[in-house]
Amino acid sequence: MANDDERLTEVFFDVQRGLPRQGIGSEESTLRALGFCTDLPVEHEVLDVGCGPGMQTVALAGALDGRITAVDLHEEFLEELRARAVAAGVIDRITILRASMDDLPFEPGSFDLIWCEGAAYIMGVPESLASWHRLLRRAGYVAFSELVWTMADPPAEVVDLFQPGYPSMTDVEGTLARIHEAGYDVIGHFLLPESAWWEDYLAPLEAKLPGLSARYAGDKEALAIVDTTRQEIELRRRFPDAYGYAFFIGRRPS
Ligand code: SAH
Repeated sequence: MANDDERLTEVFFDVQRGLPRQGIGSEESTLRALGFCTDLPVEHEVLDVGCGPGMQTVALAGALDGRITAVDLHEEFLEELRARAVAAGVIDRITILRASMDDLPFEPGSFDLIWCEGAAYIMGVPESLASWHRLLRRAGYVAFSELVWTMADPPAEVVDLFQPGYPSMTDVEGTLARIHEAGYDVIGHFLLPESAWWEDYLAPLEAKLPGLSARYAGDKEALAIVDTTRQEIELRRRFPDAYGYAFFIGRRPS
């Protein structure tokens, strides 16, 4: 059983590895969200949670001059971040740490800005917001991107796809309410453009599918994982108006 789980986890990484990003986003959206954080102290400490291969970490390091601590559970992605940060010449300002977002090894009030692109859902948005609130200094910012419904009555196919992974998925208004309930002021939010779904994520993922189908030919369980990925890409093409990815920026009151 454990071996089976391990094997399927490896298939999952095989599907996901080598992509520029591990989720929806773009450098442009990262910088747009950062533009809402207009009042950072001169010396600022930033935490990037679920940094993955670190495209947004490096974008932040290019735009800010403070220290960034980037955390992810998976060493493989952290190695990709390290290489990317070295290539961009910003590695000296990035601390890379393997840790789980539900057990972050930091003192309360350690950060001026907590960043999280496409990973808050793993712990849950309300739970993530609560944990970040403790880690933020007064007047610190939080910026995260998250999947949202953009249609009141989305098609059943789409609901079925997201139900298992995102059981508490809500819309923009629902997420704003969660931010407020967690004790933050809402500073801003925006929907990511369609290009942020495709350029660094779904298009390179789709390009891997034929190779993956060939590699796992005859392996039913592995092919089911490849197939779910194919279905996710297909649904995005068919129902771009039903759901979206939104950035939210909040601030801990001073
Ligand atoms: N921010 C990156 C990655 C988003 S995908 C980007 O936008 O490209 C979600 C990331 O969360 C993955 O890198 C995954 O390895 C990481 N992750 C999954 N579970 C985690 C946990 N418990 N703690 C920290 N990171 C986790």
